[in-house]
Amino acid sequence: MNYYVSSILADVRAKNPAEPEFHQAVQEVADSLSLVLERHPEYRHAKILERVIEPERVLMFRVPWLDDQGRVQINRGFRIEMNSAIGPYKGGLRFHPSVNLGILKFLAFEQVFKNSLTTLPMGGGKGGSDFDPKGKSDNEVMRFCQSFMTELARHIGPNTDVPAGDIGVGGREIGYLFGQYKRIRNEFTGVLTGKGLHWGGSLIRPEATGYGCVYFASEMLATRKQTLEDKVCLVSGSGNVAQYTVEKILDFGGKPVTLSDSTGYIFDDAGIDRERLAFVMDLKNTRRGRIKEYADRYKTAVYTPINPKLDHNPLWGHKADCAFPSATQNEIGGKDAGNLLRNGVTVVAEGANMPTNLEGVAQFVDAGILYGPGKAANAGGVAVSGLEMAQNSMRYGWTREEVDNRLHLIMKQIHRACVETADRFGCPGHYVNGANIAGFLKVADSMMDQGLV
Ligand code: NAP
Repeated sequence: MNYYVSSILADVRAKNPAEPEFHQAVQEVADSLSLVLERHPEYRHAKILERVIEPERVLMFRVPWLDDQGRVQINRGFRIEMNSAIGPYKGGLRFHPSVNLGILKFLAFEQVFKNSLTTLPMGGGKGGSDFDPKGKSDNEVMRFCQSFMTELARHIGPNTDVPAGDIGVGGREIGYLFGQYKRIRNEFTGVLTGKGLHWGGSLIRPEATGYGCVYFASEMLATRKQTLEDKVCLVSGSGNVAQYTVEKILDFGGKPVTLSDSTGYIFDDAGIDRERLAFVMDLKNTRRGRIKEYADRYKTAVYTPINPKLDHNPLWGHKADCAFPSATQNEIGGKDAGNLLRNGVTVVAEGANMPTNLEGVAQFVDAGILYGPGKAANAGGVAVSGLEMAQNSMRYGWTREEVDNRLHLIMKQIHRACVETADRFGCPGHYVNGANIAGFLKVADSMMDQGLV
């Protein structure tokens, strides 16, 4: 079996050169799946894993736009339509200068398993651009979004492919993208999720990923008869996921003490309370400023700028009980994982996608801590996107409480699926294997039913 899996991995590396994040995501899943492929030769014969790794379709296109000085700018746009076995392609759009084909393929691949875990009928996809919204005027962002959607519109649709937000794509960008889609296609449909409340959006969608991640952490803690009450929590990022993670940690009586952005991080020994969180939300969502301003405002906080020479991130070096990485991929390396374990962290719930590298994951698993991988712990965002699609189809909206209750229930179901699957495959408490296998089985069986397509 090891030979079968390692030859698939060698093939992936050869066929997809210079895409290390994609190789990493496939390796983590393939390692878990060797347990399944051993028991199910039919999946091997039908080459299900080989097919899951190969995107159904990759779109790459030019995005020309004019900046405020009237200069021509060119970016690259992408959409990866990874797998549609259990529903229309579904997954976010990322606008960030680091975006490339390999990063989006890793995200689309992860999305297939995550969407399967939500219990909702959604396939996997991901897209975006190397466009950087930071420092751009609203008009520049609008012109870029309109150009991007002019091409994307011909490939997506409410029953085909339904994008949402991700890094750099929030309510503002979804609004401009939706407006242009509606104009080109002359139809008002639920083609994007994360929409504004007056035009088809769902209550709780902005909160969903962060809330869901904390619900997942509290389910993991419950297996050890613990709660988040009084737990000191390290949170990275300060965007959508980080903000609502902090809000829900506060609801559950925990104490968040850190936040970061791509220039540095703040550590606030006094804790980030509701008033301070409101400051961060205004800073990041309205004024679009840097996290350093938090430490200028609150004297209990210390700001540390990013030091690219360091081989670790000092944010993960503080004494704490829980960690909620909520910024980006590979933000916890091997040394960071060691620091977290040494400083007493026993819960890691990943709000970001693949924030821990393979060395870090191995350390968490070996230490036997409660480690919730992103594809399970951050599935609340896409789950509420699925609920937004359901509400759009009904042309009806649920209350905040109703959506939040459904989100909470889905996170409990995902947690239970991970635990039960890990038990069934002989690795109790191994959330990585539990999530990968549970997510895979539903997709694999659907692919078997649908023949060789
Ligand atoms: P966001 O609102 O754009 O916030 C991203 C945050 O991470 C910002 O504080 C950003 O700092 C920081 N960041 C981004 N790239 C970074 C880098 N290379 N190094 C250091 N810091 C970096 O995005 P988000 O929606 O919160 O997404 C955060 C993570 O959650 C991503 O991994 C995303 O894939 C994952 N996720 C999001 C959702 C969702 O519903 N939004 C769902 C599931 C998973 P700057 O502002 O300085 O760039």
